[in-house]
This record gives sequence, C-alpha cells and structure tokens, in this order.
Amino acid sequence: MPAQLLDGVKIAARLTETVKKEVETFQAKHGVRPGLTVIIVGEDPASKVYVNRKHKACAELGIASEVVRLPADIAEAQLLQEIDRLNGDPKVNGILVQLPVPKHINAEKVLEQISPKKDVDGFHPVNVGNLTVGKEWLVPCTPYGIVKMLEISGISIEGKQAVVLGRSNIVGKPMAMLLLSRNATVTVCHSKTQDLASVTRQGDIFVAAVGKPEFVTKDMVKPGAAVIDVGINRVGDKLVGDVKFDEVKEVAGYITPVPGGVGPLTIAMLLHNTVKAAQLQLGDR
Ligand code: NDP
Repeated sequence: MPAQLLDGVKIAARLTETVKKEVETFQAKHGVRPGLTVIIVGEDPASKVYVNRKHKACAELGIASEVVRLPADIAEAQLLQEIDRLNGDPKVNGILVQLPVPKHINAEKVLEQISPKKDVDGFHPVNVGNLTVGKEWLVPCTPYGIVKMLEISGISIEGKQAVVLGRSNIVGKPMAMLLLSRNATVTVCHSKTQDLASVTRQGDIFVAAVGKPEFVTKDMVKPGAAVIDVGINRVGDKLVGDVKFDEVKEVAGYITPVPGGVGPLTIAMLLHNTVKAAQLQLGDR
C-alpha cells in the first residue's frame, strides 16, 4: 500500500492558527505587535522569494515585519553595525539574516552578532547550547517544524530508530537533538558514512537533508518508515526533494511531498519563534 502523505500545508495552517491567537494575546497584553526584521544582503533570486514569503506570512498574522535590503558589496563591519542597531531596537523582537550572505562576509560572525533573545532562526551558539542541554527556547525552524509535524500526525518518536541524513547546523544537527530529546535512538549520517543504505534502512523515522535531488531511493528505506524530505532542489524548472518520491512512496508508511511538505512548516515555526522571542523579551515566558 502506498505511503500516507503528510500534508505540510494543512499542518502549517494549524500551527499558524495557534500563533495567530498568541499574537492577539500578546497585543492585548502589551499594546504592541511582535516585530520581525529580515535582513537580505544582495540579489540572490531564491532568497528574495523566501524573504517575500516570510514578509507576507507575518502580515497575515498581524506580526509587524520589516525587510532591510542591503547591497551585495556592503562591508561586513557595516552589516554587523546594522544588526547591533536592531539588537537595541525594542520594536524589533526577531532578527533573521537570510542566508547565504555574499562570500566576503563571514556568516558565522553575522549569526553570532544577533542577540540570542532575538535569534528567531535559532542559529546563535547560545541557542544551539540551549537545545543541546534540553532547553527549547529559540529552535531552528525547519527541524522544529518537522517534530511538530510528526507529533500532529500521531507518529510516535519515543523508542524509535531515527536516521538523519545530513549534519548541517541548520537542519541535520538540531534535528538529531530534537529527536534525541524526544527519546528516539538517533543515527546521523553524512558524506563519510560507510554503507549508507544499510544505515538508513534502520530508520523508523528517516529525515533526508542532504541537498541532492532524489538521492534517497527505495532500497535505502525501511518498509513502513516515516520519510521526511527536507530537500529543495531546482532541476530545470521543477522543484524536487532529496527523496525519489515516486518509488519511495511505495515502501514508506508516511512521506512528505516537495513542494508542500517541510517548506510551509519552516515558515510557520519562524512565526512561532517571533512571538516566542517577543514573549521572552517581555517576560511572558
Ligand atoms: P548542507 O549542504 O549544509 O548539508 C548537507 C549534508 O548532507 C552534509 O552533512 C553532507 O555531509 C551530507 N551529504 C552530502 N552528500 C552526501 C552523500 N553523498 N552521502 C551522505 N551524506 C551526504 O545542506 P542543508 O542541511 O543546509 O540543506 C539540505 C537540504 O535541505 C537542501 O536541499 C536545502 O535546500 C534544504 N532545506 C530546506 C529547508 C526547508 O524549509 N524545506 C530549510 C533548509 C534547507 P558532510 O557534512 O560530510 O559534508
């Protein structure tokens, strides 16, 4: 029997409904709206699309959002100064620098400049540390959205074998931490993993975040597994995931489509994090 489809659009709508109520409660209590500022450096077309989506999603929920557009040749020091200005602005509760930044700018330095309390992407080392010790404050949006999706879909995590393919700071590592803290037994695979398919076939939950189009084939998947496809790869004029959807859906128990799977959850969790950051700053949490 083919896998059950996990509909990210529907689940994201449910999550944003909750965020909307939190925005209303916050506004009623404090008389201001939570505010998000997104910084975009340069003219990367994919980044522009992502930033516009985030801006629109904020507007729909009543979150005040501002986009700061900076030229591609801006000096690193100037960008850091701009982040400092936003760190000190009480109207700005969340700051996000859209990645990638141009090559002459050190992305790590930029992420570390953002105040941990305003770090809605959850990439600052303080928030990475929080997650590692089990404090889920501002958690990276994509993996956070994935655990919400599993929970809402009734896919239990505790005691399961979870395999995460990819160890990036943005997806793979925080994904592994979130699954571990929910009592899965977690294996993280990467480009040096030997006999990859035999490892990934252990996964009751299999998260693919490898960034290679249709990399995951059906022989890599345990029958009945929940397969979560994080990949967004442009092939010609099509978007495809990291999973070969048509064949993997024949063996998996659950599968996310691309598009319409993990992507919408990422935005929903960004909105969630923005409200959470505002609540943390004003002492509601
Ligand atoms: P990265 O390129 O940072 O990480 C890729 C990981 O895959 C690395 O850990 C790498 O291993 C591993 N890898 C690469 N090749 C192989 C291989 N042949 N065998 C095993 N492992 C391999 O990617 P990201 O984590 O940033 O993103 C992954 C994908 O998710 C991309 O397609 C990206 O566009 C998408 N994405 C989607 C989001 C969404 O909202 N849906 C949000 C963020 C990302 P090593 O560490 O050894 O190099």
